[in-house]
Amino acid sequence: LLVIENLTKKFGDKIVFKDINVNVKKGEVIAVIGPSGAGKSTFLRAINMLDKPTSGEVLFEENQLTSLNENQLDQLREKMGMVFQGFNLFPNLTVLENIKLAPLKVKGQDDKIATETAKQLLTQVGLSDKADQYPASLSGGQKQRVAIARALAMSPDMLLFDEPTSALDPEMVGEVLAVMKQLAEDGMTMIVVTHEMGFAREVADKVWFMADGGIQEIAEPKTFFETPKTERAQDFLQKVL
Ligand code: ATP
Ligand code: MG
Repeated sequence: LLVIENLTKKFGDKIVFKDINVNVKKGEVIAVIGPSGAGKSTFLRAINMLDKPTSGEVLFEENQLTSLNENQLDQLREKMGMVFQGFNLFPNLTVLENIKLAPLKVKGQDDKIATETAKQLLTQVGLSDKADQYPASLSGGQKQRVAIARALAMSPDMLLFDEPTSALDPEMVGEVLAVMKQLAEDGMTMIVVTHEMGFAREVADKVWFMADGGIQEIAEPKTFFETPKTERAQDFLQKVL
């Protein structure tokens, strides 16, 4: 589904990461973990070209993303939904309107169908009673679940998450992870940058450990957490576990 070849990103002459080669199969769940400043967010944003890589290629569903113009990229980004730490909901729209916005405006979907789909998605994330509320009246965990529903409204083939729970109060983390776990079980392809080691261990098919300008280890969670190969990963795990 996704092939990343020799992906490199520099800011000026500062190398954030260099020559990353990885791929993601349909239905796979990848947990990207690593120390702060390792370039995880930059990497995620390079995958969908929100932040243009300096060199290398990203192939998504056989499209060479670096060769596409902004219009074509926008179309592909619909298939590659993104959920951020900070929700980014529109405060002046209700929950239902937030979810319907892109299907109506971008896809030109019929309002009745968009409403129907939005309601189903709200049920899926456990918020069917919040359709007509405004984001300000929701908790952080509820906002993040709306953000996930909004990403799903575009019927993406893959979802990218950048620390979706790190802005939440501890008691809200579980409800968001539960929604993500359900998505994984339903077969959604996901790349999740996370500090939630429990989630990485339990839900991910693979861990990509990112540090020192690249992905240093690719392993199944059990292998990674029990027998990390590099000293860098051993050191990291000692600090976070
Ligand atoms: P965290 O876990 O704290 O979110 P991260 O792994 O996501 O960290 P990034 O945010 O990708 O790390 O940042 C990687 C490096 O790139 C950092 O050293 C950061 O200062 C640098 N960087 C990020 N964005 C820019 C930018 N627009 N211009 C210059 N440097 C940047
Ligand atoms: Mg980050």
